[in-house]
Amino acid sequence: MEINDLFLKIDPNDWELFAEDFFSNFGYKILSRAAVGQDGGKDLIIEKDGDKILVSCKRYSKSVGLKDEINIIDRMEQHDCNVFLGFYSSNVSQGLHDRINSMNSNNRQINYLNGSNIYDYMKKMPADVLEKYFEEPHKLSKEFGEIFSNAELLCEGCHGNILEVNMRYSSEIGFDINYDEKEIKILWGHKKCIPKLSLSLTITELMYTEERQKFDEYIKSLLDDGFKVDYSKLYKIKREFEKIQIPPYWGTYI
Ligand SMILES: [Zn+2]
Repeated sequence: MEINDLFLKIDPNDWELFAEDFFSNFGYKILSRAAVGQDGGKDLIIEKDGDKILVSCKRYSKSVGLKDEINIIDRMEQHDCNVFLGFYSSNVSQGLHDRINSMNSNNRQINYLNGSNIYDYMKKMPADVLEKYFEEPHKLSKEFGEIFSNAELLCEGCHGNILEVNMRYSSEIGFDINYDEKEIKILWGHKKCIPKLSLSLTITELMYTEERQKFDEYIKSLLDDGFKVDYSKLYKIKREFEKIQIPPYWGTYI
């Protein structure tokens, strides 16, 4: 599939939201969303490492040309930005490419990401975020399939992989905490395949770093208190979840 065809499936109004998720994922702070331009394109103001960046979001079926990207310097000045970054689903025309290159100076950086650049970075984004915009992201390409399918925990009922993208919402990791025996039993699987235990967390919850930390601390407090646990299972969870963990700045599970 052509990369731009893929992006054209995103609703034009969601392109800016996708840009926000994209930049948040790579550690940028979203400062504000600027006004809608005449062409329906939107500007986003973001920040990282002391740079204040104006992101121009355009989801076009054609190339972005000189006429589409006007007043770049004015817009940067208006928002006090030292960097301009085009976030384009398509390619840019040679004219715009040349102009962007000519506008760079010592205290001003002007650049753009085209569809193929964005697609390459997307491979480093968590499946759950991509799922907001693309159906079955693990099927986007062989590479995406490999990224999202190498985490594996086999259901203790039916032996299906509960970390598969489509299975995460309907699967959980359960803990049976026996205070008299001072023992923690761990069980994982599809909700329908395993019994309900005293403490259950869905896969999606555990993918959020803050939730994981709370859980880790709780288990650690029990272990410090002399509780017994199957360590091979605990390490298996840790190892597999590291492959699908959502970065800490992503927020907490609601
Ligand atoms: Zn199962």
